[in-house]
Amino acid sequence: MPELFIGGRWIAAVDGGKREIHCPADGTLVATVDEAGPKDARAAIAAAREAFDRGPWPSTPAAERGRLLSRVADLLERDKAALARAESLDTGKRLVESGYDMDDIANCFRYFGSLTAAGGTDRIVDTGDPGIDSRVVHEPVGVCGLITPWNYPLLQTAWKVAPALGAGNTFVLKPSELTPHTAIMLMRLLTEAGLPPGAANLILGAGASAGAPLTEDPGVDMVSFTGGLVTGRRIMAAAAPTVKKIALELGGKNPNVVFADADYEAAVDYALTAVFLHSGQVCSAGARLLIEDSLHDRFVDDVVARARAIPIGGPFDERARTGPLISAAHREKVEAYVDAGLAEGAVLRCGGARPDDPALADGFYYLPTVLDECRSEMSVVRDESFGPVLTVERFRDEDEAVALANDTVYGLSGGVWSGDVGKAHRVASRMRAGTVWINDFQPYVPQAEWGGMKQSGFGRELGPAGLAEYQEAKHVWRNLSPRRLGWFE
Ligand code: NAD
Repeated sequence: MPELFIGGRWIAAVDGGKREIHCPADGTLVATVDEAGPKDARAAIAAAREAFDRGPWPSTPAAERGRLLSRVADLLERDKAALARAESLDTGKRLVESGYDMDDIANCFRYFGSLTAAGGTDRIVDTGDPGIDSRVVHEPVGVCGLITPWNYPLLQTAWKVAPALGAGNTFVLKPSELTPHTAIMLMRLLTEAGLPPGAANLILGAGASAGAPLTEDPGVDMVSFTGGLVTGRRIMAAAAPTVKKIALELGGKNPNVVFADADYEAAVDYALTAVFLHSGQVCSAGARLLIEDSLHDRFVDDVVARARAIPIGGPFDERARTGPLISAAHREKVEAYVDAGLAEGAVLRCGGARPDDPALADGFYYLPTVLDECRSEMSVVRDESFGPVLTVERFRDEDEAVALANDTVYGLSGGVWSGDVGKAHRVASRMRAGTVWINDFQPYVPQAEWGGMKQSGFGRELGPAGLAEYQEAKHVWRNLSPRRLGWFE
């Protein structure tokens, strides 16, 4: 069956384009899928436009839209094993982690299902005049172009698809060209749940050819993008001529600030998961360890000892705790950042190389790496390497910790570890980041907003603001007893 989903039909790319998908863990061919070009993208936009302008979805009662999202959550739970397997083959991610992602994805649909069904966002405005009925109603934005990355393919997609549909929009989804399979499966589940044809459309393919039309075409009202900073800037510029609404979830270079009075064992443990989970391919990865000077030596020694012992392997290796990078090109990028850091004076404490295990030779593996004695002007500290690379910087006091934490163009997330609640809250409140964890790192819930400050982007996903992102507020004013105004008499 072809893999592009346009206007409720599965079709092949008009130009016959195909792309091979390989598993990053061992290079095996997972599948060959259709590769859309600009013509397919425009056909998908036209289908979404038609479904928005004349189809039933935007005017379906909110309670019914909410029920459909809850049905999708049930179907995601039913198909969890197959979805997790497909996600692991595309990404190389451990199967158990893909399973956790699928639970989170079902929860996301369930949350937006209840939020949509509950309604309650419209409101009456008191003008003080009983002859006026004034109300603010919330309507869908229109046709949404949803563009997603490869690191959490279906999760990032769910954060957009669930609220976009909940608010009554129609959409064209373009997942990363490297990880298309769970998006294909989601289209089937949306259809099975009863979504009308044309409300959800899927195109697969490269950013420049399949993605760019979504950012330029006047038929698209909004673009919600998750991906890298450079692509985000390009999308913002491409969306300007047609003044599209845009939401950008970009990268991060997230500080994990550890004070000497922190719970030592927990802080060491979380310093590792903060950065080495999914080989550092996490937008909110705690890739910058900022450590109080007096704690530095012992703490870094322990982090290094444990990083050296992390078992690495493919998605179905139950011993493995972390896996490969997504591609050969991405691994080369990570290697270049480590080399640049070493050239600028960082001290290599562990890793800094590919594993020498011949069983891993066909995958894109890279050892968990710790670079000590880093400074914030180094490119390995400033830029998102998006790999298993922890940089270590020292601070002497609270003010210096905050200054270092904020010395980045990004502002997605950060962590602070301290046994002093007051100090932890002071630092958290001064950190310029969309999410701050105190004595923790990485958790999120669908009820709480997620998004970036500064060049980590704008707009919010999840939470009530994640639904509002896909709505337009409209003020409707009704004069109940109009009389001549006489202004020009
Ligand atoms: P990327 O920017 O290379 O690609 C993301 C998506 O954009 C892909 O689907 C790609 O095909 C598409 N694209 C590329 N060029 C385009 C163009 N000109 N027009 C339209 N679409 C285009 O990012 P990636 O390498 O897939 O993902 C990793 C990045 O995503 C990291 O920077 C990471 O921090 C970020 N990310 C952010 C969050 C968040 O919540 N803020 C979450 C996950 C990932």
